[in-house]
Amino acid sequence: MVEFKTNLELLKKLVYTPGIPGYEDQIRQAIISEVKNLGDLSVDEHGNIILDLGGNGKTLLIAAHMDELGLVVTNIFDDGLLSFRKLGGIDDRILPARHVRILGEKGEVHGVINFPSPHLNFEKDQNVIPWHKLRIFIGAESREEAEETGVYIGAPAVFIKHWTLLAGGKAVASRGFDDRAGTYALVELAKLLEDTEKKHRIVIAWTVKEEIGLWGAYALAAKTRADAFIAVDTMACCRPEITGRMKPGRGPALRLIDNAYVANMTMANEMKRIAKENNIPLQVATGGGTTDASAFQRLGIQAVALGIPLLNTHTLAETVYPSDIENIVKLLYNVAVKGINI
Ligand SMILES: [Zn+2]
Repeated sequence: MVEFKTNLELLKKLVYTPGIPGYEDQIRQAIISEVKNLGDLSVDEHGNIILDLGGNGKTLLIAAHMDELGLVVTNIFDDGLLSFRKLGGIDDRILPARHVRILGEKGEVHGVINFPSPHLNFEKDQNVIPWHKLRIFIGAESREEAEETGVYIGAPAVFIKHWTLLAGGKAVASRGFDDRAGTYALVELAKLLEDTEKKHRIVIAWTVKEEIGLWGAYALAAKTRADAFIAVDTMACCRPEITGRMKPGRGPALRLIDNAYVANMTMANEMKRIAKENNIPLQVATGGGTTDASAFQRLGIQAVALGIPLLNTHTLAETVYPSDIENIVKLLYNVAVKGINI
């Protein structure tokens, strides 16, 4: 039985490293610096990281997406304000009055997304302001002044994150656990499996551009010779009529069905068997949205997705239970070491 405790410091480092779809350089480098000596590492032309840990038997590819939600600057106006568009599923209701980090040409520039003060809202307007009407203020009063900071059209931006331990660390809240929780889990899995005898050839990947339509996973699936695929992602929690009795803190979830996928039942049953035989809690749930597993399935590779239950998904208050991360690592470790029938 492998023992493993969440390294909150490394998890936080990965969560705080920016990487919006298509602009993953920093998070890619952060992952590579952790895993580069663990196996045969390559980066494909899309930016996916592929780490071949070797092993025998059928090839099992396990992946988490490295990208996160974010914004891209679309214009710099004469008054110094910036417009932006969204990359990934961001609800307009969470945008106003947020602090953002813009990754400019001369380094980071901080800004805030404007919101009209209630003191001056004489119209009593309660409507949600659509994203294209919001502006980022970086303290500049003209276009020239804004450009002087290194901000440019096309610059990526992320929300400034706050890290809070809840109930003494039983749960952790921050923006960015989708899918840095999975990203982190696979970094730890790679470390545990490096010098371990495996029943499968294990390849771990960190994919790009998941949040805008699984693009990295499609590219990987089209070229890989993997026999089977496991996606490791967070899973929006909870809505009982969809997600069953899934609760955060009660183990990872076997994702049976989502908006674009139905699990390969052979693989799903093998996940259940490995969990049961090794006393690892595994919940069963259906979900909304989708994961990289649906890309692999569509391109003909049997796939299953495992979910780390996540509260407040795609907000600044994403909340995860470290114990669920630990149990997903243990489950995948046992899958690799004991083998699944596929
Ligand atoms: Zn997501």
